[in-house]
Amino acid sequence: STFVGASFGGIAELYAQIQKAVGATERVFELLNEQPENINGNQPKLTEKIQGNVTFKNVGFSYPSRKEIEVLKGVSFSVKFGQKIALVGPSGAGKSTISALLLRFYDLNSGEIIIDNKSIYDYDLEQLRGNMSIVPQDVILFGGSIKENIAYGKPDASFEEIQMVAKQANALEFINGFPEQFETLVGERGIKLSGGQRQRIAIARALLKNPSILILDEATSSLDSESEKLVQEALETLMKGRTSIIIAHRLATIRSADNILVLNNGIISEQGTHKELLEIESGIYKNLSNLQFSEY
Ligand code: ATP
Repeated sequence: STFVGASFGGIAELYAQIQKAVGATERVFELLNEQPENINGNQPKLTEKIQGNVTFKNVGFSYPSRKEIEVLKGVSFSVKFGQKIALVGPSGAGKSTISALLLRFYDLNSGEIIIDNKSIYDYDLEQLRGNMSIVPQDVILFGGSIKENIAYGKPDASFEEIQMVAKQANALEFINGFPEQFETLVGERGIKLSGGQRQRIAIARALLKNPSILILDEATSSLDSESEKLVQEALETLMKGRTSIIIAHRLATIRSADNILVLNNGIISEQGTHKELLEIESGIYKNLSNLQFSEY
């Protein structure tokens, strides 16, 4: 399999691949040697936009390359459209796996994933992914201009639209600070943007795509506080009116989530709001929050 995730390149690699795939679904099949059997392009197209109610029903899963290890063992949760759900839990608990399944990168062993009353396997794949955006921890831009990088999810966007989303993503100022502005080349051969700048480009890209469902993987390492504030503001703008599933590391995010899922060893061991979870004496969440969540 080319889709090695944690075994070779780690989760950053997984996200790089997902990011590419979500940006340009037509390339998904080239990216994946190993296609889940259920992935076929023959599903009828929806006429209406996905609203973004997401339900996992008893989802069991193991990676095709490691069938013997059950990564998810009966995971159930629901998130209503427009709500924010935070996934927390120790490394290897299955947080990234949940987002990979939502993007339909693999078939399930058991259970169901439902979006708006319909199994995700009953959607046209391109349409399903067309309704989702990912903002990963470490955004990898491809070689090309800033403009092309923003327009990636919507190649026919006008320059006015691109400027508008750049502004909403708090990116306009730094972009216009470069001599070539939106034509500035980034990526390996271009200028090097900071982590926070790259994230804001990814946020602008997502705003342009206007998805119903967002998957956010929060940075574990803190950006400098000015950049942090700009990224955070841009994320708030992006999340408004969409369903957000956040692999969360920041206390502020977790506090404001409608629901927190504490994953441990492939099961959801605790679930509730920040306040509710802190009331569980010697709970996993309580422990984690003492150790791990960043105040910034
Ligand atoms: P982290 O916080 O470190 O990113 P996580 O909670 O996101 O961890 P996952 O990446 O979902 O955890 O991994 C869950 C389990 O699945 C781990 O045991 C991991 O080694 C395994 N795993 C992840 N990706 C793959 C893959 N592509 N192939 C095989 N096993 C994988």
